[in-house]
Amino acid sequence: MSVATAAKKSVLISGGSIAGPAAAFWLNRYGFKTTVVERWPELRPGGQSIDVAHYGLEAVQRMGLEGELRARFTGEKGTTFTDKNNQVYMQLGVGSGPTNEFEILRGDFADMLYQETKADTEWIFGDYIIGVNERLSTDDIEVEFKSGKKEIYDYVIIAEGARSWGRKTAFGNKGIEYKPIGTYIAYFSIPLEQDTPFGDQWHVIWLSGQRAIYFRPDFKAKTQRAGIMFLSKESKGYEKLSESEQKAVIAEIYKDGGINAERMIKHLDKSEDLYFEYLGQVHAEKWSSESGKIYLCGDSAWCGTPLIGMGTSLSVAGAYILSGELAKNQNNPRLAAKSYENNFRPIVKEAQKLPPFIPRALFQESEWGVKIWLNTTTVLGWIFGSRLVIALTPTIVNIWSRFFPTEEKKTLPDYEQYITNPIKLVSTATTKKA
Ligand SMILES: Cc1cc2nc3c(=O)[nH]c(=O)nc-3n(C[C@H](O)[C@H](O)[C@H](O)COP(=O)(O)OP(=O)(O)OC[C@H]3O[C@@H](n4cnc5c(N)ncnc54)[C@H](O)[C@@H]3O)c2cc1C
Repeated sequence: MSVATAAKKSVLISGGSIAGPAAAFWLNRYGFKTTVVERWPELRPGGQSIDVAHYGLEAVQRMGLEGELRARFTGEKGTTFTDKNNQVYMQLGVGSGPTNEFEILRGDFADMLYQETKADTEWIFGDYIIGVNERLSTDDIEVEFKSGKKEIYDYVIIAEGARSWGRKTAFGNKGIEYKPIGTYIAYFSIPLEQDTPFGDQWHVIWLSGQRAIYFRPDFKAKTQRAGIMFLSKESKGYEKLSESEQKAVIAEIYKDGGINAERMIKHLDKSEDLYFEYLGQVHAEKWSSESGKIYLCGDSAWCGTPLIGMGTSLSVAGAYILSGELAKNQNNPRLAAKSYENNFRPIVKEAQKLPPFIPRALFQESEWGVKIWLNTTTVLGWIFGSRLVIALTPTIVNIWSRFFPTEEKKTLPDYEQYITNPIKLVSTATTKKA
């Protein structure tokens, strides 16, 4: 495949959060013409800190953006578990608990990818796909947008998150299952006041009624990212309410949640980036159309929910493999589709596994249940936070692996030879460039 032919291929990517722009980043490098359409009127802000690890970190390193990731580190100092009166039960530092040195806000990550793609990608905000027609006679795809526009593309990638509409439009939701996990979640920003308790920590407050609240700092914006999570066996339809109705629901559910809940509710009304969802996993039999010209990527294809802690990592790694396979198999999209699945489905399958007691075991109905759970976290904190355990961990892992060798950790496939357009990164805090 010559560079000239590759340059003619056009790709419409629907969804401008993580998976979409990550795919645009790589496709630009391989000489495709990319368009991202985002339903939101602007780059969507919001979200809490997200982890970038494993394959996700490798994908970011291949982009040359590890330095930028570190530069955007939230600065979170560790994790603290308390009860509603702020009595501390567990405290862990960076590296010994859930906080690592690659904590970045979801909105910041999306912005980083936007900055790195906006020069080469056509970004369209405030529009979305309403019709997708694969034309066999011309071997292309006609896409109709809500704005009334009709355009022709060679490929379409749907990266619209777990509740994707474009997925339904393009695939009819055949072979796609949305499996709720009985949990509501919401994220929004509130001011980080000087005397905010545990303001430099990921502060998790466990409450009775199977509820939790958490706050994570954003020092640059002088805000705290507030989050709530509560169990609900069935959807109560909150996710479909208007923003003001959702705010009223949160205020009602957390009105007896103690001092932290009061502070959260006080600021909730003014918050402009509320994200409220009834969590579910997406299981899709196939991630592409029969022709290999329409694809699912990111949460639209394999949402595992934030409880797996891998959503962003899977998105960047999956977008990397999808783009690489499209570059590698430009004359054979069916093969590209097959290789995308062969390379990435085993990783997704492993990552999507939730232990059977998660999330139920984390959330307690009674005050006593919360006390017992918090005391358990104290013991866990001693074990995992102990300097001795941290120091000995590599030795223990080493000895363990001699007796019980596990499959060697694979790295992502290499597509460097297909790069035709080594774009200069906008970021100044770069490391290794692809
Ligand atoms: C506002 C927000 C906050 C989040 N906060 C967190 C968090 O704190 N922690 C966490 O673990 N995960 C969070 N997530 C989810 C996390 O971003 C994803 O799990 C993961 O990064 C996968 O990214 P994605 O690009 O596949 O999907 P998403 O991040 O869900 O992004 C999908 C994008 O597609 C857009 N979109 C939706 N429908 C259409 C349509 N019909 N046409 C065009 N565009 C459409 C959405 O506006 C969004 O920008 C958040 C997602 C969003 C949108």
